[in-house]
Amino acid sequence: MGSHSINGVAELHTELLTKDTLGDFYELFPHKFSNKTNGVTPRRWLVQNNPGLTKLISEKIGEHWITHLDDLRQLEGFADDGDFRYRWGQVKLDLKRSLAGHIQQRLGVTVNPESLFDVQVKPIHEYKRQHLNILHIVTLYHRIKQDPTVNIAPRTFIFAGKAAPGYFMAKLMIKLIHSVAEVINHDPDVGDRLKVVFLPDYNVLCQILYPAADLSEQISTAGKEVSGTGNMKFCLNGALTIGTWDAANIEICQEVGQENFFRFGLTADEVYQRKAEGYNPWDYYYGNSQLKEIIDLIGSGHFADEDSTLFQPLIDSLLHQDQYMLFADYQSYLDCQDSISRVWCDRDRWLKMSILNTARCGKFSSDRAIREYCDQIWHSSPVSIQLADYVQPQTALRVDS
Ligand SMILES: *Cc1c(COP(=O)(O)O)cnc(C)c1O
Repeated sequence: MGSHSINGVAELHTELLTKDTLGDFYELFPHKFSNKTNGVTPRRWLVQNNPGLTKLISEKIGEHWITHLDDLRQLEGFADDGDFRYRWGQVKLDLKRSLAGHIQQRLGVTVNPESLFDVQVKPIHEYKRQHLNILHIVTLYHRIKQDPTVNIAPRTFIFAGKAAPGYFMAKLMIKLIHSVAEVINHDPDVGDRLKVVFLPDYNVLCQILYPAADLSEQISTAGKEVSGTGNMKFCLNGALTIGTWDAANIEICQEVGQENFFRFGLTADEVYQRKAEGYNPWDYYYGNSQLKEIIDLIGSGHFADEDSTLFQPLIDSLLHQDQYMLFADYQSYLDCQDSISRVWCDRDRWLKMSILNTARCGKFSSDRAIREYCDQIWHSSPVSIQLADYVQPQTALRVDS
């Protein structure tokens, strides 16, 4: 009632606000509602965090893109340039080597920098479904145990992020990641085909995690994520996204093109529909033998020194009352991951997609978002400042005081 303006921070979320969450207010005050899709600042999330890629980009298209991110479109033309693709790949490989060094130092785990770096870095929450990611990892592990000669494109799964201190289920998800990692990283049948790591200290490491990613995991239950900004940080650094049709993922896919995005899972409408019909996880459990086998494997205590009680609360929630509907998206997620492994093996194609992701994410600059707030919400106009005065710290101090 007291608000001058109400905005969702991605198109889907604004739509959900006006139709559902705040539907009656929207009927009364439609003029107050608008969408302002979030953005991230390219100065921190690319220039500061990824000097190698910044240098390569600026060498080709100058530096104007740093304050006008739409200029990255000029990179599109270089996606077909073999020499440029090679250098793009080398920058990424250097970042992955450096991250591999941190992982070795911090966790004592040796990861292969040439493997696919599959990264899920974000707050730990059931709606963000880090445990769906784990179901994929356990499925790959299960495949290897059933047939140690099976052909699997090598992957390094990297997790990081914090859980709220009192959020029991999120803490249990972190425990599950560690437990699965412990078994997989030491199984000689697996070798160096799969490695799983949970990196502590998101605050310190995020700067190198986003730039070093090949694949960005944005796998929230459709309708649950508000916008996401991690998805934008990854895309800016040339990671490809595996994502649900949720939040800003939708807009990223629209910008980069569906041929450069890995989409899976139910839509928000389908999630509501499935819930209205009565979502029954047991149908999926008994209907999908692969799913049943891996859930039973986790439930058996295989990853918990044969303690079958440790992960029971997590399994119970998946089987009895899972509002995040992991099982409904499981097969689609798996199929999508399998197609990603095939594309990964075609290095030229992957690099091309990576370049196009960076080239087409200009919309997700916070400069654009802030300009929209200024123009359409605050009705404030730009003021010219002498930037040179502000970049001198001492001058800035004098101005503040
Ligand atoms: C980017 C960022 C987020 C948002 O991450 P999502 O993946 O969009 O959930 C949250 N916290 C910090 C500290 C971040 O840097």
